[in-house]
Amino acid sequence: MAKIYLIDVTNRDGVQTAKRGLSKLEKTMINLYLNEMGVFQSEFGFPTTRHESYYLKANLELAEMGVLKPIRLEGWLRAIASDVETAFKLVPGIQHLNLSISTSDQMIIGKFQGKKTRDDVIGEMVEAVEAAKAHSAATIGVNAEDASRTSLDYLIKFGLAAKEHGAARLRYCDTLGYDNPFTIYETAKALAENTGMAIEIHCHGDLGMAVANSIAGARGAIDGGQDVYINTTVNGIGERAGNADLVATVLALLKSKGFQEKYQLGNHIDLSKAWKLANFASYAFKIAIPINQPGVGENCFAHASGIHADGVLKDPENYELYDYEELGRGEPELVETGREICAGEYSGISGFSHVMGKMEVPFKNREEANEILELVRYANVEAQKPLVKDELLFIAKYPKIARKLLTLIPLE
Ligand SMILES: [Zn+2]
Repeated sequence: MAKIYLIDVTNRDGVQTAKRGLSKLEKTMINLYLNEMGVFQSEFGFPTTRHESYYLKANLELAEMGVLKPIRLEGWLRAIASDVETAFKLVPGIQHLNLSISTSDQMIIGKFQGKKTRDDVIGEMVEAVEAAKAHSAATIGVNAEDASRTSLDYLIKFGLAAKEHGAARLRYCDTLGYDNPFTIYETAKALAENTGMAIEIHCHGDLGMAVANSIAGARGAIDGGQDVYINTTVNGIGERAGNADLVATVLALLKSKGFQEKYQLGNHIDLSKAWKLANFASYAFKIAIPINQPGVGENCFAHASGIHADGVLKDPENYELYDYEELGRGEPELVETGREICAGEYSGISGFSHVMGKMEVPFKNREEANEILELVRYANVEAQKPLVKDELLFIAKYPKIARKLLTLIPLE
């Protein structure tokens, strides 16, 4: 039986959110949390974007060290052979790629404006796949942008051409959130049956159906006989109305009526990391979690009305579909209400030693403390907000990697 895997795209589609972004250290923390949670793959950035190079290489180094393992780190780029060359020049260690090109007539006419035909699009994609193969890429996915407005016959032709040249997966991008669960089910099933490729489902929330479409698409691909890779983002963050939310998608896969009986995750997801991950992403992006966000919203386990409160006290299952402990909730959180010493970009050694001492981080000597403090200052310059405990611990534990993450020299 084919299985469902998760590819989180917070560090690619999520950071394309207008008016919001992440520092390279924050992107790294997201990768670490996704790994802890058991997410199969992180689309960790843009290998042709020069300011990402140090970050991408540092994260690949963490993978080699076994710190970012077993999660797979994959880069996103345009399906253009010269971009593939640039990616391998800037990030030679990259192994997993997704190559993206628009496939709908709307985009071919409206975006390429007569410069490319349908055949040209396939031709360019094939050249890019061949370039990636020539660099011995371990896995190649091809992304059909605006796939939901692309004719099915052409999508199949696109997928088969990619497969013939060595691509492993076809990403079906509902770029505008245009699908509904019924249409995406049929399309994903037809794509799986007719291409024989594993299918990626990439959904957006413009019509409020990103999660519903993701699980319907997953079901279609599996009924068509193929593994499926659902694309998610943390807290559903992403362009315009956002992407399919990671936690809500996992909850829908595991908890919705009868779904799990036939359609299962290929590997275990540790939902108990959900609370920590969602709250970190909220802090890092400076986007509050809605009070009613599935699983991690403030009110998900709050009951006020008499009938509900009475019912949930008698048996939580009366009014709750799952337990808060499953999502890593329930631990009291300490909030400082008195004097607070923060580590910032202008911190001195005394305040910094106090902050780290509270976390029981010992330094060998003053030089070592100074070295870590200097890195923390730079991290604050980039993030423009106090670092969280896990970030401080990460810098103290991996100062060499942190130095790379904080290196932002415009390349020649
Ligand atoms: Zn997208």
